[in-house]
Amino acid sequence: MEISFATKRILVTGAGRGIGREVAKTLVKCGASVIAVCREKSLLDVLVQEVPVTAVCVDLNDWGATHLAVKSVLPIDGLVNNAGIGIFEPFVDVKPESFDRSFNVNVKSVINVSQVVVQDLIKRKTSGSIVNVSSQASQAALKDHTVYCATKGAVDMITKVMALELGPYNIRVNSVNPTVVLTELGKAAWSDPEKAGPMLSKIPMGRFADVEEVVNAILFLLSSRASMITGVTLPVDGGFLAG
Ligand code: NDP
Repeated sequence: MEISFATKRILVTGAGRGIGREVAKTLVKCGASVIAVCREKSLLDVLVQEVPVTAVCVDLNDWGATHLAVKSVLPIDGLVNNAGIGIFEPFVDVKPESFDRSFNVNVKSVINVSQVVVQDLIKRKTSGSIVNVSSQASQAALKDHTVYCATKGAVDMITKVMALELGPYNIRVNSVNPTVVLTELGKAAWSDPEKAGPMLSKIPMGRFADVEEVVNAILFLLSSRASMITGVTLPVDGGFLAG
């Protein structure tokens, strides 16, 4: 099955590294015009040298600047809300700053960026597709993940409400919920063998996910191949959530 994004303009947040970077590069290979958003300009500069993307450098913590930045690159047909951070601390030590920083990027920016894109799609009477990158941590409690689990639980419910409200406009919204992927974020939480071992033992397939496996799921849901799928939270977890 081939997936083509020819003529489509797709915005990817957190495209400077990790999963978002590979999503952006694969979308370009599939014919999309990609708008790559991230905070660190040096990472975007490297990406632009590798593949033809439009780079947008903005801190998603800044609601106003993000709103303007996304507006400046309209029209957008597809959106991957991928940017995210993880701050891992025991429940009794959770700090208010951890909550605010995590919810700003992982949750509020999903609403902000999606609003700009969706308002324009509705105005243009055009169909669209949005994929939110959630996590297995939205549905299973993980030690030291109080705030991270809470942000991803919020992302899943935002996905469902968006699907409910935007279906009538032919705008689909889905989540992809990966298990551990050893990006920089993944390594921060799971590179310690004492933590990785017990997690691996709960994944029926016995391994963490590769970036490409997550990218494939994102691209499928984003594409017209998933034209009747909306409101789902799709685990890419080797069976972790089935246990
Ligand atoms: P990385 O840390 O490798 O990349 C995160 C990206 O998000 C970076 O490009 C980063 O940009 C961007 N970002 C973070 N904060 C901001 C901000 N304030 N403004 C703009 N951009 C920002 O993480 P992953 O690739 O691993 O994660 C991608 C998504 O996948 C996240 O939503 C994460 O929660 C989710 N996920 C990851 C898993 C894993 O094990 N890795 C498992 C399940 C879900 P910059 O570099 O400029 O800061």
